Amino acid sequence: MTSDASTDTPAARFRDLAKHYGDVRAVDGISLEVKAGEIYALLGLNGAGKTTAIRTLLGMIKPSAGSVELFGQTVSPQAATVWSRVGFLVETPASYPELTVAENLKVMARLKRLPANTIETAIAQLGLQSYARRRARDLSLGNQQRLGLAKALLGQPQLLVLDEPANGLDPAGVNEIRQLLKTLAAQGTAILLSSHILAEVARLATRIGIIHRGKLITEMTAEDLHEKVARRLEIRTRDQDSAAWILRQAGHQPHTTSDGAITVEGAQALEFPDQIATLLVDAGCPPLHLAVHTEDLETLFLRLTGQEVPA
Ligand code: ATP
Repeated sequence: MTSDASTDTPAARFRDLAKHYGDVRAVDGISLEVKAGEIYALLGLNGAGKTTAIRTLLGMIKPSAGSVELFGQTVSPQAATVWSRVGFLVETPASYPELTVAENLKVMARLKRLPANTIETAIAQLGLQSYARRRARDLSLGNQQRLGLAKALLGQPQLLVLDEPANGLDPAGVNEIRQLLKTLAAQGTAILLSSHILAEVARLATRIGIIHRGKLITEMTAEDLHEKVARRLEIRTRDQDSAAWILRQAGHQPHTTSDGAITVEGAQALEFPDQIATLLVDAGCPPLHLAVHTEDLETLFLRLTGQEVPA
């Protein structure tokens, strides 16, 4: 690693980045940074602006306003030296269909001016050994994605930029890539990826930026994400009116849902549901059902982006 990987200079930085297509604000003022050892996930629905932001960072699109930096250098045709430190995979991985996996990697290694032995490393990292002599056009979607990732990893770049890296992979493949990215991050690689799958991001990312309609609406650590998940205690008894009254008298704030369940969201009730059970039993209104429910991650995402949450 060169010196600035160990300093505070972020590997990637967006400074108030905007990209407009006519009236469409694909990216609308995003500022964020990704440092060595971080796995930063840009999380958003289809059309949120993730790919546009990533393509702009990689110099494939010119910003309408703001700027993007790689290792402290503003991305421009003049800043040619940083590219040897960046590996990327954007949208569908493009390969030469008539060339084998190994030949495709060889072409990329030559373009990046890397020694031939880097190919073996990338093939092994992506578990492509048994496909090395297969033509790219004969690969499954998942293995095409692996080849794309292998190309991104050639030469062990200090920054990896991956647009939807789990695309086309089966659950075992997703798991393998997750472990690989975690290992690379632990070794100091900065990783910026995009995804629309919150559950996957929650398992992989160290930091998460939720992007919606071109704006970064919130940033959080993986721990924050787990804390933001709403929980509630759901209670059913034979006499819900009396149960609600008993709970209110004891200082709780019960709500009744449209299907007649009582819910309580206070920390005390969530931590000690046994005390609620005892309270109701002692008051002659024993619970038939009492359970802590945790909001699923997809519902949390809809809530954070201000969208309608299905009942
Ligand atoms: P997806 O996961 O579907 O790829 P995304 O979050 O990557 O979504 P973008 O592809 O960045 O979203 O698109 C953001 C918005 O910008 C969308 O409304 C899209 O239609 C629009 N857009 C992207 N590229 C162009 C273009 N070249 N011309 C016009 N509009 C565009």
